[in-house]
Amino acid sequence: MRNVTVKEIRTSSALTKSGLPELKYALNPYLGCLHGCVYCYAMDFTNDREAAGNWGSVIAVKINILEALKKDISRLSRGVVGVSTVTDPYQPVEGKYRLTRNSIDMLSRNGFRVSIQTRSPLVTRDLDIMQKNPGMFDLGMTIASPSESLTDMIEPGAPSPASRMGALRKASEMGIETWIFLGPLIRGFNDTDEQVSEIIEFAAENGSRVIYDKFSPYRGPAKLMENILPEGKYDYIRHADRKWWESMRSTIMKKCEKSGAKCNSQAEDWKYEKAKLVRPLTDF
Ligand code: SF4
Repeated sequence: MRNVTVKEIRTSSALTKSGLPELKYALNPYLGCLHGCVYCYAMDFTNDREAAGNWGSVIAVKINILEALKKDISRLSRGVVGVSTVTDPYQPVEGKYRLTRNSIDMLSRNGFRVSIQTRSPLVTRDLDIMQKNPGMFDLGMTIASPSESLTDMIEPGAPSPASRMGALRKASEMGIETWIFLGPLIRGFNDTDEQVSEIIEFAAENGSRVIYDKFSPYRGPAKLMENILPEGKYDYIRHADRKWWESMRSTIMKKCEKSGAKCNSQAEDWKYEKAKLVRPLTDF
């Protein structure tokens, strides 16, 4: 059993400008993440030193985020909000604090479209909110690998890939737009034909779009990855070359075409968002 520290903090704002072209804002109710993925770049962007320095075992809860969100909503122009970008919005503490639930409810009722990304089936608790206004939501589930053992190794605190697929299935059945983030793809780890095929075939069958991307060697995850990999393997991963990625891209796109799944790379995702019909905003 891991020792986990949960601390409560206060925040002056809830919505921050997003650096991703497909999102206007980001909302992160927590700092740090108990899923503890070893490849996580978020630790390099977490401005709570304790949470960033003890990745996966310290979490800061922004207890007044709903108050801050109310203020932000009254002054900011409408747009797509990514929930979340540097933490998982449905990690275990959300079961108690319900900050994500209340935030997405408030956002959607006030004309902000919400794009959720998680690794947890806890999100199905909030399908009732999404179902009230499905046009205001899309739900993404990250699945780096369908293998339970590989997932345990790289995402030690996160729910199983099978449970994530189950959650996506339920959301699709309820009419919510769903997608899978297939990644990060790590050379010599989760880039095999079998793993990639299984995820794409599931996406096709479930009607979920696929967004794929490769691992980026940020500073923070290097240590965590070196700890779990045989000596020298991290260097092999870190130096994955363009040839490997071009071949991966081509394999993925062929599989998508064959299965009928709609796929695009993370770098091209803004094009999909741009083409999407933006719902006219009503008065709130
Ligand atoms: S779930 Fe996301 S934020 Fe949490 S550790 Fe994994 S990659 Fe990082």
